[in-house]
Amino acid sequence: MKFYDLVDYILNIILPENLNCFLCDLPISKSNSYSICKSCFCKLNYIENGCKICGKPIKSGNAEYSSRYSDDGEYDEARQGCDFCRKKSFLFDRNISILEYNETSSRIVFKYKYGKRTFLARVISDMMCDILDKKYSDVLANADFVTFVPLSKERTKERGFNQSEKLAKYICKRYNLEAVELIKRVKNTKKLYGLNSADRKKVLKNAFVINPDYRNKLNGKKVVIIDDIFTSGSTMNEISKVLRLNGVFEIISITFLTGEYKK
Ligand SMILES: [Zn+2]
Ligand SMILES: [Zn+2]
Repeated sequence: MKFYDLVDYILNIILPENLNCFLCDLPISKSNSYSICKSCFCKLNYIENGCKICGKPIKSGNAEYSSRYSDDGEYDEARQGCDFCRKKSFLFDRNISILEYNETSSRIVFKYKYGKRTFLARVISDMMCDILDKKYSDVLANADFVTFVPLSKERTKERGFNQSEKLAKYICKRYNLEAVELIKRVKNTKKLYGLNSADRKKVLKNAFVINPDYRNKLNGKKVVIIDDIFTSGSTMNEISKVLRLNGVFEIISITFLTGEYKK
């Protein structure tokens, strides 16, 4: 058992996790799913109709092209996606997100990342797995490798854990898979929050390299990447670039949250 797995184990014993809703502190019964009370749970929006490429919720005015044929009947490879991703050329095949980013859902992630309440890794991964089981059961079943977004050593030390790695581990545990570190972060990038897409790209340039242990094992393989939030897709794209250069055939990212695209 790794050191921080042990710490996690002990914390889970010391801190009882489901006596109160972890969002609003109201008492809830032990049987309550995900340790969230009913009124907080109602504020969460599951993404029912996500874009087939970027996973962002499709709402009116954000119509997805359902076909690669234009109105004139011409075939167009690029003609797919929603208003957000149609003109982007992502290097991954698809992102699947579970919940819409909103005030309540973002608080779950915030508490998980910064609140040292690591039992939330289990809550979040349970929420993710329940939807994967229902709607995307083939994605993990078909994957050759499941990996996560790496954090720099400095950031891992500062936070105490890598939030993506921990989610990937819990998700893999449920399906009897192994989460492996395919990618290493070689640049301690500053926080991306608040940066636009172009600036994110600049900051992330050459931030990732392949883990040499897997360099010769990726040709033609299918990879799933786990992360907490999908924002502009820049991080996923940079990681996908490294994976593609090493011959990976299919890349699907599975993320807990993504925001609605607003023009
Ligand atoms: Zn609540
Ligand atoms: Zn899209």
